[in-house]
Amino acid sequence: MIEFKSEKMSSVMLDPRKNFEETGLNPEIRFDPLTRDTTRLGHFGMIKPQKIDLTKLDNEEVKKRCPFCPDNIEKMTPRYPADILPEGFLKKGEARLIPNIAPYDLFSALTVVSNKHLLTLEDMSFDVLKNAFEVGLDFYKIILDKKPEASYHFLGWNYMPPSGGGLVHAHQQVLSSKEPGNYYRKLLEESENYFKKHKTNFWDNLCEKEKEINERFVHEGKNLTWLTSFAPLGVLGEYIAVFNGKSTVKDIDNETLEEFVNDLLRLFNYFEDNDICSFNLGLYFAPSESEKNGFNIHARIIPRTFLNLTECPPDANVLQLLMKEPFSAFYPEDLCEKVKPYFKSR
Ligand SMILES: [Zn+2]
Repeated sequence: MIEFKSEKMSSVMLDPRKNFEETGLNPEIRFDPLTRDTTRLGHFGMIKPQKIDLTKLDNEEVKKRCPFCPDNIEKMTPRYPADILPEGFLKKGEARLIPNIAPYDLFSALTVVSNKHLLTLEDMSFDVLKNAFEVGLDFYKIILDKKPEASYHFLGWNYMPPSGGGLVHAHQQVLSSKEPGNYYRKLLEESENYFKKHKTNFWDNLCEKEKEINERFVHEGKNLTWLTSFAPLGVLGEYIAVFNGKSTVKDIDNETLEEFVNDLLRLFNYFEDNDICSFNLGLYFAPSESEKNGFNIHARIIPRTFLNLTECPPDANVLQLLMKEPFSAFYPEDLCEKVKPYFKSR
C-alpha cells in the first residue's frame, strides 16, 4: 500500500575535475508515497548550510522600527474586533497573537513568539515555544466556534531571512480559511482517497512502514512519530512529525503539545550543531470532525539557507517555483542517521 518509488538516472559527462574522463553522476527522482509528486535528489555536495552572523540583525536602530518589539507592539500592531477577541489579541507568557496588518486570508493572524527581537535557536526555551503554539491553537478553537466556515487551519513559520521571513522578530502565521490552498488540499484529498481505497489510515501505515524498514525513521514517542521525508520538499531535506491518532485542532491535548515542543527543541539542537539557522515549518490539521477521515495532524520542517553569503542567493529557484519540482541535495537516509542521536538523549 505504501510505495517508496524511485528512479536512478545516469547523467554522463566528460568531467574537468577528472581530466575530462567520462563520468556518470546519479541524480534520482522520487515519488512521494501519498501525493505521488516527484522530487529530485541531486546536486550532491554542492550545497551546505551557511551560518549567518545573526548579531548584525540585532541593533537599536532596527528595534526602533520593529513593530513586534515591546516598545512598539501596542501602538503599531492591529487588533481584532471585540466580537472575535474581546481584548483584541491573545496573550500567553510573552507570546501575543494579533491580526496580520497585511492579511493573506479571512483570518490571517500572527503570533509574535517572544519579546526578544532576535530569538536565536538557542533562545527557544520550552516555555517560549509552548506559549506560542498554545496561543495559535486557542485562536483556532475560537474561530471554529465563532466562524466555523473558516475551518482549514494551517500554522506556518518562516524563521530568519533565508526562509522568506520578512521580519527578523520571530512570528508564526496562524491561518484559518475557507480554502486550504493547493498543497494542503492535496494532502487532505489524498489521505481521504487512501482511506477509502485501503480502509486504513495512510499516516499510521507510513509510520509503521518507516519503522519496519528503519531508513528514515527518527523517533517514536507516546504521541508523535518523527521521520525524514522520502521525497523531501527542501534543498536541505525535510523532517516530518506525525501526530499519532490526532486529526483536528481539538485533538491536541497538553501532553501532546508538550511532547511536540520537546521534540522541536531536539531538532533545533541538531540544527544548531549543523549550522542551520533558518527554516520553514508547516503544521496541518484536518478541518472538522466530518472531514478527518484518514488525515493526521503533521508538521513539516524544512531547513533553509542562502546558497552563499557573498550574493546571498535563495535556495529556491526556477525548479521549485516554475516547475513545481522540489529538489534535495541530501539523501533523507543520511539526514536520518545524523538527526537520530538528538532524539535518543532523552
Ligand atoms: Zn523586534
